[in-house]
This record gives sequence, structure tokens and C-alpha cells, in this order.
Amino acid sequence: MLLLNPQKYEREHKDPRAKEIMLKTIDFFEKKGLLAIKEEDKAFAWYQDYCDFLAKEEIFADLLTPAGYGKPDSRWDLWRVAEFNEVSSFYALHYQYLYQVTILGLGPIFLSDNEKVKQRAAELLRQGKFFGFGLSERAHGNDIYSNEMLLTPNGDGTYTASGNKYYIGNGNIAAMLAVFGKFSDTGEYVFFVVDSQHPNFECVKKIDTSGAHCAYVSEFNLNNYVIKEEDILSRGPQAFDHALCTVNIGKAMVGWASIGEVEHALYECLHHTCNRNLYGKPVYSFPHVRRLFTEAYLRTIAMKLYALRAMDYFRSASDDDRRYLMYNAILKMKVCLQGEKIATMLLDVVGAKGMEQADTFMEMFIRDTPMMPRLEGTAHVNMVLVNKFMKYYFFAHEEMPVIPKRDDIGNDEYVFKQKGGKLGTVRFADYHKAYEGVELENVKLFLGLVETLRDYLATTPPSAEQAANIDYMIGVGELLTLSAYGQLIMENAKIYKIEDDIIEEIFAFLIRDWAQNALFLRATFDNSADQRALINSMIIDAPLNGERFERIWETQVLTLKDVYVMPQ
Ligand SMILES: Cc1cc2nc3c(=O)[nH]c(=O)nc-3n(C[C@H](O)[C@H](O)[C@H](O)COP(=O)(O)OP(=O)(O)OC[C@H]3O[C@@H](n4cnc5c(N)ncnc54)[C@H](O)[C@@H]3O)c2cc1C
Repeated sequence: MLLLNPQKYEREHKDPRAKEIMLKTIDFFEKKGLLAIKEEDKAFAWYQDYCDFLAKEEIFADLLTPAGYGKPDSRWDLWRVAEFNEVSSFYALHYQYLYQVTILGLGPIFLSDNEKVKQRAAELLRQGKFFGFGLSERAHGNDIYSNEMLLTPNGDGTYTASGNKYYIGNGNIAAMLAVFGKFSDTGEYVFFVVDSQHPNFECVKKIDTSGAHCAYVSEFNLNNYVIKEEDILSRGPQAFDHALCTVNIGKAMVGWASIGEVEHALYECLHHTCNRNLYGKPVYSFPHVRRLFTEAYLRTIAMKLYALRAMDYFRSASDDDRRYLMYNAILKMKVCLQGEKIATMLLDVVGAKGMEQADTFMEMFIRDTPMMPRLEGTAHVNMVLVNKFMKYYFFAHEEMPVIPKRDDIGNDEYVFKQKGGKLGTVRFADYHKAYEGVELENVKLFLGLVETLRDYLATTPPSAEQAANIDYMIGVGELLTLSAYGQLIMENAKIYKIEDDIIEEIFAFLIRDWAQNALFLRATFDNSADQRALINSMIIDAPLNGERFERIWETQVLTLKDVYVMPQ
């Protein structure tokens, strides 16, 4: 089964330590129980027990130390790095956040050329310490060009750092926090490390936020904090690139967090609703209940197929193969938005139980899940990014290596050798290859929609005025995103040998989603007559197959109703 079931853990690992890490973490949470997790969540209580567990078991050290640092067998292996997001967020998003922020904090460090700091970071990981990433400022949101954190040269080779950062995870504990700022004399960008326990590091407050109740999202000041040359990670354009390259890593992690949460919510809602009778019948005798559950299940499978495939590309990335840049942005934005959609579907089914604070995972899920598409660059920012790949994705295909399933044991060294910039020249292989040999009706219809989009871009492309309107281009970007989403799902459906019923019903909802987005483009903006004609031809129906849908419901969804129940 593709879905994570912690009580019957089945993911294949070639590496026994990875399996041990996942099982120990599962055991920690299953023993802690849902009631204790919910009590702490309501109290916004700090999760010291979890931090102690991670430190004792050396979990972050083993997962997050790249080869060449720390132990001789250390490695950064996305097959296992990604999965830990899913396992930790299965129990609450704030547990994943500790990991997310540590990964972000390590980004500028291991991307840099500062060997001393890298060695020190590896030591700190081994000691069970945590990290942080200080990019955001209160007034500037996504606009990192306007950052005001300043580093002023003291004339003796040291610098004084002064400024404020806002929304920064682990500001209460980070042993190393990578801070982004500017040199006050030259205006050049800079990344440097600070210690949150230093007297000139002032942790102003915890910012209570949904999604991070038990985590510590901080506001902090650096008050004349002296920075030595050896604390500097990168400067100038390199520092700027390292900020974006770090976010490229973070994006993939957030997508996986969404998957973990969705899986738990799905089990919980199925268990509650499918064991309930109304009017003398099981609740699932309502056809809409069956439809919503089945579609939520299919969307979850699609999220996971996409995410696993995106990791194959990320693991295989190089200067010559930067397809991961588009696929990671989609993993973040699209997969997390799917999580949000599933939350609404499940809430429609589960009703009041989904709001119950005392003992319901769902209550945290519906509260936290809207946050996820909006971090690491909002959904819009990622859509604008995805559009930069449009030309090469559709019109300049090249022969590129066919990427296999990447569950091998390896050190994914390119993660910390990424190059910034030149997004408009990232090369793509021909997406048609994903569909070769597939004779399924809905898949063919979906490919037809992709071809119509290509036709629209080739023959009636956005006018200068439309192209200058980000709102219009976000509408077009939704269709490009669906194209790549479908491509990677299809590639992985082959690799994981997903049965035809499931593939057909996944592509049925993708066709419905396509129609919705095309309707938005048609109804919201001025389009030329030619554009309108092509957009109209994108609004089609997938042929209905009620028998197949019911079959999935009965054999794959209803059968999950008692498969996982979290101990109280
Ligand atoms: C719980 C939580 C934890 C966080 N942890 C960290 C952390 O550890 N470290 C850290 O550095 N930051 C962190 N952040 C900050 C987070 O990454 C911010 O959300 C991010 O900086 C975006 O800022 P904003 O949400 O205020 O949106 P804004 O940038 O204010 O965006 C407002 C609107 O403008 C649009 N917009 C902005 N720029 C563009 C663009 N270029 N193209 C198209 N549309 C655009 C947006 O889509 C949005 O609709 C955290 C935030 C939260 C809530």
C-alpha cells in the first residue's frame, strides 16, 4: 500500500538505519498518544520531550549530515530525508516544523564554502542541537531585496550585526541560526551564523501561529552582535542564490509534510464516519459521502505519487539537469493546495467531530493545512516561478536521462551544490514519453488537454498586456502546473504499477480540475476570440464510470476504516 500506516509500516528501505529511525519515531508518538499531543497543542506548550528523544536517538544527525562531515558513513539521502517529514507531520505539523527549520538552517551552511562552520554544524547535529533560518522580516514578506538586517564592518576584520527578524523558527534554541542581511557599507547581501543563546541575541517573543502551536516561531533582535570573519557563510550574489537554493530544499519538505497530515486525517475520518449509523443505516450509504471519501483517497494517492517522483528528479539533479526546480515548486504549491482541498472534503463528511479539540487529529489538520501552501514563498510566488519554465517544458525538448526510481543508498551531493539563476533555460525532456504505451481513456483525454494548452501557447499566446498581468499568468500557470503534475503521476504510476482503475479515476479528477481552471481563465479575463475557442475546448468531461468508482470505494477506501486508529 502506498499510504503510510504507522501500525503496519511497510516502506521499503535498503538502509536498515532509515527504517529504524522511522520506527522509533512512530513508537515515540504512538506511546505518547493523541490525548497528550492535543493537550500540548491546546496549551501551545514547547515539545521538550520530542527534542530530547531526537537528540538521544541522534536522528537529525544521521538524517541531515552530508557526506564528508561527521561520521564516516554520514550522508544526505533524500529517500529518507523526505520521509521523515511525512512521519513527523502524521502526528502534528509542529513536529515536522522543527525538522523543516533545521533543514532550512543547514541549507546556507552546507551550500557555503565555510569548512569550519560546516564541521561545527556536524558536531552540533551529533550533540542533538537544532538550527534556524533567519530570512523573513516583518515588513517585507516575500520581498527579500528589502531586508534591513545590517552587518557593519568594525575596521578590525569583525562586523557588528544589528536588526530584527520575524517568523523565525527555533529562535529559542537554535545552536546555529543562518541569518540573511546586507553589509551596511556596500549593500551587498550576506549570510552569517549566530547562536540563539548569545547575550546579544534577543529572542523578543514567540509568535503564536496555526500550524506551529508547540513550535517556537520567534521574533528576534541582533543587538550589536559581533560577527567574526569565520561566521560568514556567503556574500553578494552567492548569498542571494543560497537563500533561494535553501528554499528549493524547504519546498520539497513542506509538500511531504502535507502528505503525512492528509494520511492521518483520512484514516481518522474514515474510522469515525464509517462506523456511524444515521437513520438506521451506515453514514456511507449516502452517495456523496462515498464520493467525497473516494476522491479524497485518490487525491492522496496522486499527491504521494507526484512527491515520490519529484524526489527521484531532485536526487538526480545536476548542473545539466535542473528539472527539479519546477517539480519542487509544484511539490510545494500544488501538493499542499491538494492537502487543503482534501481537508474541506473530509470536513464536509466528518462534520462536528472534525472540530473537536479534545481528541481529534482532524481539528489540527483543518486548522494547520491552509498555512502550508503559503510558506516558502506563497502559492502565487511559486506559480510565477513555474511559469518561467513554460517555454522549455512545451517547446524545446531535449534528450535527457530517463530517471529511475531513486531508492538507492546515496549522498545527494547536488542539494548543496545547486546553482542559482537562469531558470528560463532549464531543459526538459519530452513529456509525451510519460504517456507512451498507456491506452487508458482518461489519460488520453488529459494528454489532449495538455496538447490544447500547448496549441494555445503556440498559436494564440498571451498578449503583451495579458503577459504583464500576473493574475492572468497565474491562471495560465495553473494549467502548466496540472500538465507537469499529470506527467509525474503517470511516470510513477508505471513505476509503482498502480492499477488501471486508480489511474483512470485520478485522471478523471485532473480533467475536472483542468475544466475548472480553464473556466476561471475564460470567465475572469478578456481573451481574444481565438484564445476563447481554445479555452472552450479545454472544458470537457471525463466519461463517467460509476461501477469503477464504487469498486475503488468498496475495495480500497472502505477497507481502510479500521486500519489505523491512534492510541489515546
Ligand atoms: C508559522 C510560520 C513559520 C515561518 N518560519 C519561517 C522561518 O523559519 N524563517 C523564515 O525566514 N521565514 C519564516 N516564515 C515566513 C514565511 O516564509 C513568510 O510567509 C514569507 O516570507 C512570505 O511573507 P508573507 O506571508 O507575509 O506574504 P507577503 O510577501 O506579504 O505576500 C502578500 C501577497 O503578495 C503576493 N506576492 C508577494 N510577492 C510576490 C511575487 N514576487 N509574485 C507574485 N505575488 C507576490 C503574495 O502571493 C501574497 O498574495 C514563517 C511564517 C509562518 C507563518
